[in-house]
Amino acid sequence: MYPKILAAHPLVVELKKDLRLRCEKLKNRGIIPSMCVVLVGDNPASLTYIKNKQKVCEEIGAHFKLVQMPASVKAQDFLNQLHQLNHDHSVHGIIIQLPVTESLKNLNIPNLVTPEKDIDGFNGANTQAIYTGTTNLQLLIPCTPKGIINLLNYYGITLDGKHVVVIGRSLIVGKPLSMLLSNLNATVTLAHSKTKNLKQITQTADVIVSAIGKSEFITPDYLGHSQQILIDVGINNLDGKLTGDVSKEAQEKALAYTPVPGGVGPMTVISLIENLITATENQVKG
Ligand code: NDP
Repeated sequence: MYPKILAAHPLVVELKKDLRLRCEKLKNRGIIPSMCVVLVGDNPASLTYIKNKQKVCEEIGAHFKLVQMPASVKAQDFLNQLHQLNHDHSVHGIIIQLPVTESLKNLNIPNLVTPEKDIDGFNGANTQAIYTGTTNLQLLIPCTPKGIINLLNYYGITLDGKHVVVIGRSLIVGKPLSMLLSNLNATVTLAHSKTKNLKQITQTADVIVSAIGKSEFITPDYLGHSQQILIDVGINNLDGKLTGDVSKEAQEKALAYTPVPGGVGPMTVISLIENLITATENQVKG
């Protein structure tokens, strides 16, 4: 039986150890895995997320670089910068920090990073693997879905035949996660803001994943019985405090839940670093 709180920490410690070793092996060949984050503007939340990525990157011995462009940047200059990074052999992983500014929203952002360096796993060439049925978590697939599945695996929570309700259908979380879960033989309901009778649906789930972005949205009445598992993806600010989407009362009613902070967030970051090391290994295969 798994613990009530599905904390990321013990798994993150294990994964970091493994990633440090892989990084060391590359360094012994004269290759320093290098991540570059492209940030447009100075959104404070984005800067916090970037700092987290930088910290873990440096902890495992990889190199980190931030390219910050003004919010007023012209689309062509932004594209030129990405072209240059895509062709820079000293950079192995590139992230375009989301959200981008309004003036860049018409660009095909997910496909601007070359698939080999797409450590976010958003490029169509990488997401295709998920949409065609892969269950291989070693591929460059989106980090939050990958982190969630790794965490469930770690705690021995099986998905085969389970009913999983994913709330939120974004390109970075809900959509790829629901496909990955389906590949793992879960029966998936993908809910969103237009879903009717959401509570009735979540009450029948074995696992509820909330990726909405609304503090304390999941209250005990969303749960139907005491054997349900709650995966809280939300990152919200409630009166200056970091909160997830799940209320304390709902956590208490559940069989197990991921905490915020300390659950899906660290799993997302470590999955990103894992993608960086994988991308580097793939690029220098000889
Ligand atoms: P988006 O804003 O892109 O998507 C939110 C989704 O929630 C949409 O699909 C929306 O539906 C749905 N939604 C909104 N209100 C309701 C409602 N009342 N009932 C049902 N569904 C609703 O968000 P993201 O996917 O980018 O992120 C979601 C949350 O997860 C945020 O808090 C974000 O900060 C966090 N996050 C956390 C990560 C982590 O590592 N822990 C990583 C990425 C995100 P519709 O499509 O109809 O508008």
